[in-house]
Amino acid sequence: MLKLENISVSYGSIKALHNISLEVKSGEIVALIGANGAGKSTTLRTISGLEKPANKDSKITFKDVQIQGALPHKIVEMGLSHVPEGRRVFPDMSVYENLLMGAHIRKGKPDQGDFDRVYHHFPRLKERIKQLAGTLSGGEQQMLAMGRALMARPDLLLLDEPSMGLAPMLVEEIFHIIEDINVAGTTILLVEQNAHLALEISNRAYVLETGEIVLEGLARDLAENEDIRKAYLGE
Ligand code: ATP
Repeated sequence: MLKLENISVSYGSIKALHNISLEVKSGEIVALIGANGAGKSTTLRTISGLEKPANKDSKITFKDVQIQGALPHKIVEMGLSHVPEGRRVFPDMSVYENLLMGAHIRKGKPDQGDFDRVYHHFPRLKERIKQLAGTLSGGEQQMLAMGRALMARPDLLLLDEPSMGLAPMLVEEIFHIIEDINVAGTTILLVEQNAHLALEISNRAYVLETGEIVLEGLARDLAENEDIRKAYLGE
């Protein structure tokens, strides 16, 4: 479904990504793990068209179409939604209005089925439909950011640090919901610092270190790998 080939991205003189290649197949959950500043968010931002690869031989293919250089809203229209780090809901808009914004970019008007799909995964959003997003708890704002992305009916969902700043019980809940969204038919590329949980729900994973992919494989194999256990699983 998604293929990155030879992607390099710089911010001025800072090289954030060096020639990375990765693939996400239809139906998978793929995790991208790595320390702070490894380049995880930059990878997602580049896929979404928010950052441009610096090298000419770079290639990003989504559903057999090359999307490097395409405008971000065109990429959303093609079925790729991005839930950014820090959630970024519209605080002065209601839950309902935030969800509507998620459907704004894609082709076709939102229907009740779109809202029902979001309420199925996030019943709490239905209870809080009129509440201003800025008054929701951190966990509810994460749910809203994910619900808003689902309103665009994505085939591929990019999730950037969904567990950040959440209490452990809520993190578990969010990860169960991510699995449910995947089972319901959405492919997922997940960026996470919580490598333990990320590897638990993923089919495959890539490890990013200072802008380079240093390891890739089945999530269950990486979870057994001694270097990974020491570096990322706190052992
Ligand atoms: P984190 O979990 O801390 O967000 P990350 O793995 O997502 O880390 P990135 O945010 O992609 O890493 O950052 C990769 C590198 O690029 C880091 O050295 C970071 O300081 C740098 N960087 C990221 N965004 C910018 C920017 N807008 N301007 C300059 N440098 C940036």
